[in-house]
Amino acid sequence: MEKITRSEALFAEASRHLVGGVNSPVRAFGAVGGTPRFIASAKGAHVTDVDGNKYIDFIGSWGPMILGHNPPLVIDAVKKAITDGTSFGAPSSGEVELAKMVKDAFPSIDKVRFTTSGTEATMAAIRLARAATKRVRIVKFEGGYHGHSDGLLVAAGSGATTFGVPSSAGVPDFLAKNTWVLPYNDEEGLENLFMRQGINVACVIVEPVAGNMGVVVPDKSFIDTLVTLCKKHGSLLIFDEVMTGFRLAWGGAQELFGHAPDLTCLGKIIGGGFPVGAFGGRKDVIEKLAPLGPVYQAGTLSGNPVAMAAGVATLSELKSRNPYEALEKATQDLCDSIRESARKANVLVQVNECGSMFTVFFTARKVDNYFSATQADTKKYAAFFHALLERGVSLPPSQFEAAFVSTAHTPAVMEEAKKAFAGAFSAVAALGKK
Ligand SMILES: *Cc1c(COP(=O)(O)O)cnc(C)c1O
Repeated sequence: MEKITRSEALFAEASRHLVGGVNSPVRAFGAVGGTPRFIASAKGAHVTDVDGNKYIDFIGSWGPMILGHNPPLVIDAVKKAITDGTSFGAPSSGEVELAKMVKDAFPSIDKVRFTTSGTEATMAAIRLARAATKRVRIVKFEGGYHGHSDGLLVAAGSGATTFGVPSSAGVPDFLAKNTWVLPYNDEEGLENLFMRQGINVACVIVEPVAGNMGVVVPDKSFIDTLVTLCKKHGSLLIFDEVMTGFRLAWGGAQELFGHAPDLTCLGKIIGGGFPVGAFGGRKDVIEKLAPLGPVYQAGTLSGNPVAMAAGVATLSELKSRNPYEALEKATQDLCDSIRESARKANVLVQVNECGSMFTVFFTARKVDNYFSATQADTKKYAAFFHALLERGVSLPPSQFEAAFVSTAHTPAVMEEAKKAFAGAFSAVAALGKK
C-alpha cells in the first residue's frame, strides 16, 4: 500500500467537515488536480507544509504578504496589540493611524471606511455609487473579480473562471441584469455602451491592472477612456485596488496612471496578513455613508485593533523602504528568465507582468482580455504547476491567478526559483512528446 502524506490525510478529513475541504474554492486544487498542501508555517519567501516540504512561495496568501511571511516588525506590532485587547467594538487609535496612511498613499481618498474583507468593500462601494447617482445599473469587465457579492458575481474571474461558471448559481437574474459586462481593454464597447446607456450607469468598477484572470495590463488609452466617459456621463468610477493597492506602487495603480477615481477599494496588503478591507473616496460621495448619510454599512470586527496594528506596521515599512522599484526589477528579471527557459524547452508561453505581479499563460497569443486568457492551455498549466511543486516552488493552483513577488524573495531565492522554472518547462515539454 502506498504511504499517504499528512496533507492527503488532512485533506480527506477536512473534506468530511468542510465544504470541499477548504474555506475558499481555489485552494482545493480543483483546476490542477491532486491534493492541496496543508501549510504548517511560513517565513519570508517560504512556506512549509505539514509533511516538512519547504516551497518558495509565489502565492503570498493571494497578495497580502508583500513583505514576505511573518516579518518581525509586523509580528511585534501584533503581539503588542494583542496584549492590549483583541476587539473592543469601540473606536481605537489604530484605525485613525491606518486611515491617515491610506489617505497619504491615495490622494483621491478624502475619507476611509474599514471593512473585514475586500468583498465587503466593493459591495458597499457599489451601494454608495447607486445612492450618490440615484442610478441602478453598474458596469464591470469580463474576468474582473470584485469579491463574491451577488451583483458582482457576473462574468467574474478568479475561482469563478477556474470552475467555468461565469456567474454563480443563486444569483437571481433580476440582480445580474443590472450588471453590464464588457471585455477588458475594449474602448469601443465602452463608448457604445455609454452612448446608449450612459444616463443609467451608476458606476464602472474595474481592476485598474487586472489580476484575477491572471495578470492583464490595461492599455493606457483604455483607462483614459474610462475616466473621460464616466466624467462625461456622471457615472462614478470605482478602482478596485484590493490587489493592486500598495502592491504596484505606494499609491496603487492610480499613482501609476495618474488618474483619481471617485471611489477606491482596498484590501489584502492593508491588513498585513489580517482580514481587512477598505473603501474611500471623494468627500461628497463617501460622506453619504452612515452615520453621516443614508447609506448603511457596518461590521462587528471592522477596524479590529490587532488587524489595524498589522496594517500600520506593514504600511510603515513600505513607506520607509519604498521597495517598489526593486520588486519590479526582481520580477522582470524572473519573467525574462522564465521566457528564456520556455523558449529553450520549446514551450509557448506569454508571461504577463506588472510591478511584482506576473502570470505565465500557456498560449502563443497575446493575453489582453478574458477571452484571450481563456485560450491558454490549462492542462499544460496544471502539469507545470505540479512540476514546480516537485521542485520546491509554489505557484497559484490555477492558470487564472496572479503570482506575487515579495521583498523576502532575495536574489539567492530568485536564482533557485529560476532553476525550478527551467526544470518545470523541460518536464512539460517531455510530457508533450509522450
Ligand atoms: C481579492 C480581491 C477581492 C476580494 O477580496 P476578499 O478579501 O477576498 O473578499 C476583490 N477585488 C479584487 C481585485 C481582489 O483581488
